[in-house]
Amino acid sequence: MGDAAGLGLNMLVTVRGMEYAMASGLLAGRTIKMAKEKNDFSASTLSHYDRLLNESFITKEMNNYQNTLSVLENEGLFSKYPQAISNLFEKVMSVDENPKEGLYQTIFRELKKDFFNFQTFKDWLQFRKM
Ligand SMILES: Cc1cc2nc3c(=O)[nH]c(=O)nc-3n(C[C@H](O)[C@H](O)[C@H](O)COP(=O)(O)OP(=O)(O)OC[C@H]3O[C@@H](n4cnc5c(N)ncnc54)[C@H](O)[C@@H]3O)c2cc1C
Repeated sequence: MGDAAGLGLNMLVTVRGMEYAMASGLLAGRTIKMAKEKNDFSASTLSHYDRLLNESFITKEMNNYQNTLSVLENEGLFSKYPQAISNLFEKVMSVDENPKEGLYQTIFRELKKDFFNFQTFKDWLQFRKM
């Protein structure tokens, strides 16, 4: 159960594992209680834990996010895209002696510069797997 069973997940915006540790511990406890009541600690009885785990939100989330690790290998997630968003906000928020152009024009130009290209399209297809 928990981390010892590999029940941890990096979902990019958050790391998950505490609730998996608690929930899988609860399922293990239920299985042990059932085995004790039957006085049967055979592999077959204890496999009840596998069944409970497979039916739980834990396994469903593990399956839903199974491609996350390959997506996280995309370095653009940690450099290009945060930088592009930071540039966009800098352009929108900063003030100098020059007149500011329209908000829509600024945003469109910045998005076009950083996001309208083949690499971003490829990345987007990859991000959809998350
Ligand atoms: C940097 C970081 C950030 C994280 N952020 C989040 C978050 O925001 N949200 C979230 O849900 N999860 C987060 N996690 C994951 C989460 O911390 C773990 O998934 C969770 O603590 C796992 O609980 P566990 O009980 O399975 O294992 P652990 O918390 O590792 O507990 C295992 C315990 O067993 C002890 N132990 C090991 N071997 C022995 C031994 N031989 N004898 C006796 N004791 C032993 C260890 O000392 C430890 O106290 C994060 C993890 C990291 C590393």
